[in-house]
Amino acid sequence: MVWVKNIGMLPAYLCDSCGCGYRDARVAFECERLCKSGSQSHDIKSRSVYQP
Ligand SMILES: [Zn+2]
Repeated sequence: MVWVKNIGMLPAYLCDSCGCGYRDARVAFECERLCKSGSQSHDIKSRSVYQP
């Protein structure tokens, strides 16, 4: 499940697995899919606007 949270007055989509936030919901869903498959993608995390 991807969550929406306001980061710096703008909504960001949070991956429920790692907690990273993205401006683009599709990227957040992709991050969650990768997290749940057990693979760590530094590529996708470099696009995050928020880290827990
Ligand atoms: Zn993630």
